Amino acid sequence: MSTFAIHVQQGVNAMIKKIDHIGIAVRSLEEVLPFYTNVLQLELLGVEEVASQKVKVAFLKLGESKLELLEPLSSESPVAQFIEKRGEGIHHVALGVSSIEDRIQEMQERGVRMIDESSRLGAAGAHIAFMHPKSAHGVLYELCEKKLGAEV
Ligand code: ZN
Repeated sequence: MSTFAIHVQQGVNAMIKKIDHIGIAVRSLEEVLPFYTNVLQLELLGVEEVASQKVKVAFLKLGESKLELLEPLSSESPVAQFIEKRGEGIHHVALGVSSIEDRIQEMQERGVRMIDESSRLGAAGAHIAFMHPKSAHGVLYELCEKKLGAEV
């Protein structure tokens, strides 16, 4: 039997509040949306194009979190490259934060390589920044700060 200790620091994680959403890469929103709305019967919150990432996204409400379906609008989109390499599926996990610029700086001070060294505009007016998956053991994490009062 083996045991291992996890060093827990109380309260240190108050700045990461929840999983804001899980991003899922799809080839076609039109093809997959019926699965989410008819089979899983999730509420569709909205569909929007995000020019900075060359994607069209659909948000589905899932309790306090959401699913974000991402359809690439161009072969140059990072999501198109992801699908080409790995197929459709889970693309990123978005961590809901406040004061995102401070969070980015903290991550960098702790040795995390950020894809975005300052935040940029994501869907629904949120401010977002991606961590490099090589700095996060293979997971693409997005830091996500919602616009005040935004529904999605
Ligand atoms: Zn996202």
